Amino acid sequence: SLILAVETSCDETAVAVVRDGREILANVIGSQIDIHRQFGGVVPEIASRQHVESITLIARQAVREAGIALQDVSAVAVTQGPGLVGALLVGIVAAKSLALALDVPLIGTHHIAGHIYANRLVEELSYPALALVVSGGHTELVVLEREGRFHIIGRTRDDAVGEAYDKVARALECPYPGGPHVDALAAGSADEIVLPRAWLEPDAYDFSFSGLKSAVLAQLNQARMKRQPIDREALAAGFQASVIDVLVTKAMRAAREYDVRQLLLCGGVAANKGLRAALGERCREAGLPLVVPPLVLCTDNAAMIGAAAHLKWQRGEFTPLDMKADPQLPLEQWSVGPASNRK
Ligand code: ATP
Ligand code: MG
Ligand code: FE
Repeated sequence: SLILAVETSCDETAVAVVRDGREILANVIGSQIDIHRQFGGVVPEIASRQHVESITLIARQAVREAGIALQDVSAVAVTQGPGLVGALLVGIVAAKSLALALDVPLIGTHHIAGHIYANRLVEELSYPALALVVSGGHTELVVLEREGRFHIIGRTRDDAVGEAYDKVARALECPYPGGPHVDALAAGSADEIVLPRAWLEPDAYDFSFSGLKSAVLAQLNQARMKRQPIDREALAAGFQASVIDVLVTKAMRAAREYDVRQLLLCGGVAANKGLRAALGERCREAGLPLVVPPLVLCTDNAAMIGAAAHLKWQRGEFTPLDMKADPQLPLEQWSVGPASNRK
């Protein structure tokens, strides 16, 4: 199958062509970061307008790079949610028009299922698997009992990790998006300002990051009031150490409890060097295979949407053309049904 996939849930206008759910023929990403940076974050209305301006060009470029004819496309996939509703709508209208014009099925796809199945573009997955989802809007531990079955065992009770990174980065006066800057500051530090870890209840797989963010802000305020200089690198290192400690410890405990065969790291924060290294080390010690996407497949892209959509393609589960954007689309509900066999 050749799936043409569209992703416009936030501030990346992305179109990809994916063969059989695992081979990327094209993966074009138009980032709006430069436009949103001046506002210190994504401005939804501007994001939607930018998607409208770029989607046709990005789609044309993807088809050209893939070296296919539009008539060869088997299905059109698009992110249905979660995301910014106005941004999602642009991709959905484009995908519906294409599906209608080409007379091929439409596959509404879950954005986080996409982040998880970015790993299928890296290697064959084996089940049960555990996904550690760390992105701008989500922090979740997801058990995949089998292909395309999602069971969320833990989630953040307040801020997502990426959100915490971006807020801390802003307080440390780094440009948007701040995650990579905090990562770099932390890596460059010899010292660490030790900050609290939010473990929650002893058996909890849930997360909480807003207290940690407040602890960072309190450190900055204290220094300011005492007119003392603050070691930004040591503060970033302390923040990152707390985040990584909690994420890695909980993920490893869940991997043991659910006796999984693979750990899948995904979402924008999966680009974090410290997290990749720490998880890699712990998985090696535990003899647990870890799958981590390359950086371009960690942050938003459409190839991952094509990979996830293939799960539905295989089972002939298509989406009606009157489908609506769903900013709160639940992941578990998007799980695929019992298997059949389509190529
Ligand atoms: P969601 O996927 O939950 O809807 P999103 O699509 O906005 O949210 P992603 O694109 O998956 O989020 O990830 C973006 C986030 O990843 C941002 O918060 C960004 O700061 C963070 N991020 C990117 N690189 C790094 C890094 N090296 N270290 C930490 N965070 C990072
Ligand atoms: Mg983004
Ligand atoms: Fe995302």
